[in-house]
Amino acid sequence: MTAKVIDGKAFAAEVRAKVASHVTRLKEENGITPGLAVVLVGEDPASQVYVRSKGKQTVEVGMNSYEHKLDPETSEADLLALIDRLNKDAAVHGILVQLPLPKHLDSDLVINAIDPAKDVDGFHISNVGLLGTGQKSMVPCTPLGCLMMLRDHHGSLAGMDAVVLGRSNIVGKPMAQLLLGDSCTVTIAHSRTKDLADVCRRADIVVAAVGRPEMVPGDWIKPGATVIDVGINRIERDGKTVLVGDVDYASAAAVAGAITPVPGGVGPMTIACLLANTLTACCRANGLSEPEGLTA
Ligand code: NDP
Repeated sequence: MTAKVIDGKAFAAEVRAKVASHVTRLKEENGITPGLAVVLVGEDPASQVYVRSKGKQTVEVGMNSYEHKLDPETSEADLLALIDRLNKDAAVHGILVQLPLPKHLDSDLVINAIDPAKDVDGFHISNVGLLGTGQKSMVPCTPLGCLMMLRDHHGSLAGMDAVVLGRSNIVGKPMAQLLLGDSCTVTIAHSRTKDLADVCRRADIVVAAVGRPEMVPGDWIKPGATVIDVGINRIERDGKTVLVGDVDYASAAAVAGAITPVPGGVGPMTIACLLANTLTACCRANGLSEPEGLTA
């Protein structure tokens, strides 16, 4: 079997187009422009690239983008004061603090200072609790993107066996909650899981989020299963730096029913879902109905 390639780049473009058309309607019918504030502390090169890309795509869908670039030495008090200002600013519907933060700043404290209604990353403890109890929340962007692709491919996920490799707060755990919410039978695996291969082989859906280049070989995949590869790993191959996922793409694609490539799979969906979350936050803040198909 050769797997169907789930084209995250094309799907992300569709999501952005949907967001853009809602934004146009919001402007015309309600006189509201959604706004996303992104806060970057320090000069981490990867974070700078992400923040630039987020700002550019925010503007492209017609939203306002507010970038706050702070000195690496910024104090916690100053950062919290900025978040407080953004929380109170009616033009700002979404707030994202780019992680990782410099070591002298307490990420949990900072994230939990964001108004949960504006927490478009879905990392605030209130949103984690709401998601865990099946209530309306802001859903973390990467798992939301994975869920959208799975729903698009399968329709209903009810009754499917799903394995999530990785238990991080930003990917693995919320991914498992979302799959459970869609009535999958969910297993969460991690570095202490015994016989990972056997656990994977039972799954109709494998979501790999471990951060280990090409760790999952094709013979761990049940024939016909759907493989969502969240991993982004830079490795040297044939004298070049290349991007690979957590799944060995060639061998897995020979067995799976469907698979996301790296790059061009989950990655593009993450920013598209950030824009979707900002739109959702804006609609909720204004008592308007939420866009369909853009939330969990
Ligand atoms: P973390 O490092 O926070 O978590 C990794 C998880 O994988 C941990 O739960 C860890 O287990 C588990 N793990 C590590 N090694 C093994 C192993 N050998 N066997 C089984 N489980 C293992 O990573 P993130 O969740 O933040 O990210 C995961 C990957 O996804 C990375 O490649 C990252 O770059 C990528 N990513 C991609 C995004 C995108 O937009 N496409 C967004 C976010 C992340 P334990 O808890 O036991 O240590």
